Amino acid sequence: MAARSCVFVFVILWAWPLAKEFSHQLIVWNVGQGQWVTLVDNRGCWHFDTGGERPPWKEVMRLCRARRNFLTYSHWDWDHISFTGGLKNFLPQVCVLHPPVGRASPRKMRLLRGLRACAEREVFTSWSDPHGRNANGLSRVVWWRGVLIPGDSTRVEEKFWVHAFKQLRETRILILGHHGSQTSTSNALLDRIPYTLAAVASARFRRYRHPHKRVERDLQLREIPLLRTEEWGHLIFDL
Ligand SMILES: [Zn+2]
Repeated sequence: MAARSCVFVFVILWAWPLAKEFSHQLIVWNVGQGQWVTLVDNRGCWHFDTGGERPPWKEVMRLCRARRNFLTYSHWDWDHISFTGGLKNFLPQVCVLHPPVGRASPRKMRLLRGLRACAEREVFTSWSDPHGRNANGLSRVVWWRGVLIPGDSTRVEEKFWVHAFKQLRETRILILGHHGSQTSTSNALLDRIPYTLAAVASARFRRYRHPHKRVERDLQLREIPLLRTEEWGHLIFDL
């Protein structure tokens, strides 16, 4: 079986008070170079970015078509938004909780046209720097249920947002910032998330050489297993 068709199931058991009511699932879709992360709970599918090279429509529809779908975007880079135009066709109950931060070209803006804003309030903690120096620096960072999703946030920004999340130390799963690029995942960040059980690189190595050797080495030194969507396919975590 080709590596990309494998589905890896990672079960994490920790004392989460709501776990008895509903099994929460986190899926990091194998989209090639890009990011699409979905957290499923009893309210619906919460999507964090919907971009990359290969859209997993069949699998996403199977999981989320009958559920409500809430979209949160980190920033405007194509590899985080490229499937947005198709969402209206594949998922009927979809709304935007957080559009990408910052300005965008009319072509990118058109992707969000026709998607309504969610009436629901944010249920997770998020942070963004309106003064970020570039598109990556503007990335919205999300922390929810032990999962840290930094988008493409840079090491410069990490210095600020490590202080913004009260529960940062309880991080169990790290979606590597900027797909594992050396411009993210500083030691200052890793020092603050000492109980991380797994780090995920959502990337295709041959495109931009993500994850970077430096990040790999720093994870290894801390004995944090690195999971690559490129090797395992869609990654499914039972929280
Ligand atoms: Zn990216």
